[in-house]
Amino acid sequence: MPKVNKLPQYPNDSGWVNSLARRQPKPSLAKDIKVDALILGAGFAGLAAAHRLAELKPDWHIAIVDALAVGMASAGRNSGFMIDLPHTLDSDSYTSSAAGAADNADQQVIDFNRNAIDYGRKLVQRYKLDCDWSETGKVHAAATAQGAKSHQAFMAGLDALGEAYTELNKEQMIALTGIDYYHSGVHTPGTVAVQPAAFVRGLADNLPANVSLYENTPVSDYQWGSPHVLKTPNGSIKAQQILLCNNGFAAMFGVSKASLLPLLLFASMTRVMSAEEQALLGGEAQWGLVPSHPAGATIKRTADQRLVVRTGIKSGHKMRYDARTIAAMQRMQRESYMRRFGSKLPELEFEFSWGGLLCMSRNEGTVFGTIGSNLHAAICQNGLGVARGTSSGKLLAEHVAGHDSELLRKHLRAPKPAWMPPHPISTMGVAANIWRHESMAGAEA
Ligand SMILES: Cc1cc2nc3c(=O)[nH]c(=O)nc-3n(C[C@H](O)[C@H](O)[C@H](O)COP(=O)(O)OP(=O)(O)OC[C@H]3O[C@@H](n4cnc5c(N)ncnc54)[C@H](O)[C@@H]3O)c2cc1C
Repeated sequence: MPKVNKLPQYPNDSGWVNSLARRQPKPSLAKDIKVDALILGAGFAGLAAAHRLAELKPDWHIAIVDALAVGMASAGRNSGFMIDLPHTLDSDSYTSSAAGAADNADQQVIDFNRNAIDYGRKLVQRYKLDCDWSETGKVHAAATAQGAKSHQAFMAGLDALGEAYTELNKEQMIALTGIDYYHSGVHTPGTVAVQPAAFVRGLADNLPANVSLYENTPVSDYQWGSPHVLKTPNGSIKAQQILLCNNGFAAMFGVSKASLLPLLLFASMTRVMSAEEQALLGGEAQWGLVPSHPAGATIKRTADQRLVVRTGIKSGHKMRYDARTIAAMQRMQRESYMRRFGSKLPELEFEFSWGGLLCMSRNEGTVFGTIGSNLHAAICQNGLGVARGTSSGKLLAEHVAGHDSELLRKHLRAPKPAWMPPHPISTMGVAANIWRHESMAGAEA
């Protein structure tokens, strides 16, 4: 039976998780079970798949397993932007290519992402999830005139797509953030901001009756067949259908091994600001900024009045990080914080610092659909899994249940991840690319 040679492993350091009330995870698997469908991974993709499959197949017995407690992996470590528009991370301006726009690829991305937002909103309303779901959009913020130049290409792309946006000048950026740091911005209204850990926990705690969730249940061995057989520490699973929703860790199951590129991103979150500190900062009570340069810093003011700085990238080929890395990233984030907030709130310290994994591919390709006999996957979200994971998990459930739609047919034709040279060559290439981006980010970092 093939073994899974790397399992998810994170310290309990995420600010999104630790700023919430403690939650009791569901018990881990402690017996042998047989199910109609097993969903592997309880992040955005897995939980959306579980909800949708249960709706479409109410007579199926469905199980969903995760190696960790829900929210402890990337789904509870990200910046919580459920982005509706094309957002190409490897482009200096985020825009897709003109060719992409011409062949309708950008419109397809928008339809796909808005499918996630519609489904997310439906579940949040149905289960009254307390997750700071906020339909306030995002602001692309430029710290310099040079940074603002990339906004021109971004806005031209939005014009071509007929998508709304509002340009913000320096005064408007001050009115929004309370700080005199940004040169200008572009607000796009369709992105949803969410407390990511609260969102996935809410989805996990409101699963339909025909779904059993097993947390802290790593799948360590697997045998694809009829049925498929999976081993976990205290019980095995026999499943007719498997839905792989474990993003970059799918490579450990032999899926697209030579094409998936793991990257680590890092963030820090302050303690809650006092009423005096909030007044001193000024600006609006909640906002989120995406940097004009992809290697810049994402900055958020959360609903519970903390500031979050997300900056720092590293190759993720080890699929984990150590305390030294976190300390180095925290220093970089503190510099980023002090440049922005140092004149107003120099004493506001970080309470949490953490990292998390992304799964990228060279060509923004994705693994979606049936990849073997009764074996299906929704993986490789290219760093945008809040929307893409939710949408691809929902659509994968529809595919497995035999449901048909134009969106599903189009997504089944989405490009696959392109081949990459193996580690260490790919890792060296990634490191060089990160260095190039970071050295160009300047005041945006
Ligand atoms: C700091 C940071 C900021 C980010 N900001 C954003 C953002 O603002 N917007 C955005 O869209 N994306 C963002 N991302 C990316 C986003 O978090 C990911 O794209 C997203 O989590 C992927 O969703 P997923 O459901 O496909 O996979 P995951 O959320 O990674 O879920 C996969 C699950 O599979 C489980 N698993 C893996 N292997 C096994 C196994 N062998 N046995 C059992 N379980 C297993 C894992 O424990 C995990 O819970 C950010 C990421 C980071 C780290």
